[in-house]
Amino acid sequence: MKNKDLGFESKVIHLGGDPEPHTGSIMPAIHQTSTYVQKAPGDHQGYEYSRSHNPTRDRLQECLAGLENAKYSIATSSGMAIATLIMHSVPKGRNVLCGDDVYGGMSRLLNRVFSEHYDITFINTTDLAEVEKYLKEKKPYLLWIETPTNPLLKISDIAKIAKLCKKYDSLLVVDNTFMSPYFQNPLDLGADIVTHSLTKYINGHSDVVGGAMMTNNKKIYDQIWFLQNSIGPSLSPFDSWLVLRGVKTLAVRMRQHEINAIQVAKFLDSHPKIEKVIYPGLKSHPHHALAKKQMRGFGGMITFYVKGGMKETKKFLTKVHLFKLAESLGGVESLSNHPAIMTHASVPVEVRKKLNISDNMVRISVGIENCSDLIDDLKNALK
Ligand SMILES: *Cc1c(COP(=O)(O)O)cnc(C)c1O
Repeated sequence: MKNKDLGFESKVIHLGGDPEPHTGSIMPAIHQTSTYVQKAPGDHQGYEYSRSHNPTRDRLQECLAGLENAKYSIATSSGMAIATLIMHSVPKGRNVLCGDDVYGGMSRLLNRVFSEHYDITFINTTDLAEVEKYLKEKKPYLLWIETPTNPLLKISDIAKIAKLCKKYDSLLVVDNTFMSPYFQNPLDLGADIVTHSLTKYINGHSDVVGGAMMTNNKKIYDQIWFLQNSIGPSLSPFDSWLVLRGVKTLAVRMRQHEINAIQVAKFLDSHPKIEKVIYPGLKSHPHHALAKKQMRGFGGMITFYVKGGMKETKKFLTKVHLFKLAESLGGVESLSNHPAIMTHASVPVEVRKKLNISDNMVRISVGIENCSDLIDDLKNALK
């Protein structure tokens, strides 16, 4: 049986998982080495220096590529590192388009690091007419989108946007961190590059910071690998090993994240002290139909507005006990976050206002704990 024919639950466990050839060790070795001995100058086994290649990282990359139905993958020391490498690949004089509701660090990277190098326009990618208008006008090298977005969980139509990008000769990059490859595969829908913060669902245990991209385009892969090797943010052997370990349970974790999130979303939706709940799995979500079409599930992230303002919201966030107040998401434990003060503080105030990232907005990452415990926790805090 070929690896590519395996079901997802088998892939996460077996891709990149051949036993170590010299010992039979069923778990991969951590090749904690910077360099490799050569028999004669240039005579080596494909490994010269660990910034360029490392056997443990290679195993992880093989696994990650397979999960996104890609030929190639590159794993980096953070999600922002892979974004940086991709942004460095933009040729001089070319423009960039980006979704207007993206991870705070992404907006900072574009606005404060790369804005000197090229023209960057933030657009509403849920509106296909707007996407086409800007593709036509700006002829960008690439369009970067997140779907669902962070923190508003807006959904953009990947297949239709990919078609438009082809028409105007622009690359489409999709940050698939929120769905993980278990629920969504952007390359299958026509995207050119998919990226992940491995820190989140893929590793899933809140003990690694890492990033990755996957693609089927050899030219893009060669170019990003050249940049990774030149600039240097390769994922360490130990972190590669931890992610290989974490990803094995991705399928069962994602399923449980979703089962819990649906129940939590319904609970919040019916609670008198909650103004509004945003979750793609609720029928009230404006893009619920598209979410059902393009994703195989709705994920574990929920955004909601508490009735009241900063005071009530802060109080609620100090009263939750299981939903630990912390940045990040996608780990087995539940987390709560105040986007305006925490994850999205680097998004300009006007933009936050326009997007309605207000003082009473809360984003939660629903973990895989006992769901009644989670609901009781929220119930108590809302009291
Ligand atoms: C966390 C995150 C990133 C950045 O990844 P790091 O690993 O923190 O550098 C990028 N995109 C999304 C959607 C994220 O949630």
